[in-house]
Amino acid sequence: MSQPAAAALAQLVERAEALAYDVEYSAVRAWKERHPGALAIGFVPVWAPRELIAACGALPVGVVGGGDKVEIIKGDACYQSYVCHLPRSVVELGLNGRLDCLDGMLFPSICDVIRNLSGVWKLLFPNKLSHYLDLPQDFDPEIGGDFFRAELAQLVELLVARGARRPTPASWRQAITEHNENRHLVEELHALRREQPWRVPTSEAYVVARAGCVLPATEHSALLRDYLALVRAVPRAPLDNARVVVAGAFCEQPPLDLLKTLERAGCYIVGDDFLLAPRFVRADVPLEGDPLAAIANTWLAHAQPHASVWTRAGTKGDDLVALARKAGAEGVLFAAPSFCDPALLDQPMQEAACGRAGLPHMHFKYSENSGQFQGIREQAGTFADAIKLWSGA
Ligand code: SF4
Repeated sequence: MSQPAAAALAQLVERAEALAYDVEYSAVRAWKERHPGALAIGFVPVWAPRELIAACGALPVGVVGGGDKVEIIKGDACYQSYVCHLPRSVVELGLNGRLDCLDGMLFPSICDVIRNLSGVWKLLFPNKLSHYLDLPQDFDPEIGGDFFRAELAQLVELLVARGARRPTPASWRQAITEHNENRHLVEELHALRREQPWRVPTSEAYVVARAGCVLPATEHSALLRDYLALVRAVPRAPLDNARVVVAGAFCEQPPLDLLKTLERAGCYIVGDDFLLAPRFVRADVPLEGDPLAAIANTWLAHAQPHASVWTRAGTKGDDLVALARKAGAEGVLFAAPSFCDPALLDQPMQEAACGRAGLPHMHFKYSENSGQFQGIREQAGTFADAIKLWSGA
């Protein structure tokens, strides 16, 4: 093994993990110190127009919950016990001052819990921007496109009213270029993991991708470039693992130890729906023409089929099967956060699609602060063994 490259890789992954799980948002605070007067705007999963926020001179910040780093004390008061964990930890982060560095929060329309969280946020933090971001469910550019463009134009005005700079043609061009580039690199990371999962363990790829939640696109792109170069340089031996896709974990994130548990149980995760924001729209935003229309229409034409996006009847699950085929997956692990309606309501249709496609599948639930994985390890280990021994998938 090339020792310097291996050591540099370990160091990079350690840095990425520290950024990814820093509930003090130190990188965001440091960015604000380097950019006096500029705004930092948080957004909860699954998607936000990061290029629009950047074009206004602001830092888009992915807020994906507190995981097991935050003890929930006040957050529980806002939600019933049968609601997922993510909104509690986001409220807790807000109330204990960890999100003070954010000048506003965006809540994309993914589920009722997020809609309610946007209202809770308005009540708790009346002096901060709190905006519910409606996503279109009509894909005609003259209907859904016009609606979405108007939503995005309203967001620009809200940011400018809070002190952001009004975007210029140059700032649009720069922000769109940087985010297109970041999207390419995130896709390159996933492509390399699909092709050589022993080279790119998901537990590493995940923290490298998640570090992007708190970094400007160019800094995250540099981190991705370095990681890709190092994993290509460090020899790692393939194992006889089962290749699986993980589905359902698009909002509240699985604990890192859960990903490591799946890997130790004999699974190569070759596809997933974690941290979708930079890859939710599967195409470049064009640089030509009206940038707001370009973002809206690219979203309409290329947003990935998802629980938060209208899907034609009878096609639910087709995209998951296509992803599994593209990744050469031998099975699908349905991993949903407890009480996550969008994931759990889609799951039966997705399972049926896997059944029709002959893809073995199993399911389990988690919370972002789960700490015990022995049961999941046994389940996933048995699943991986069964695939290796008997599956013709
Ligand atoms: S985990 Fe599921 S139910 Fe909870 S906020 Fe996210 S999408 Fe909504």
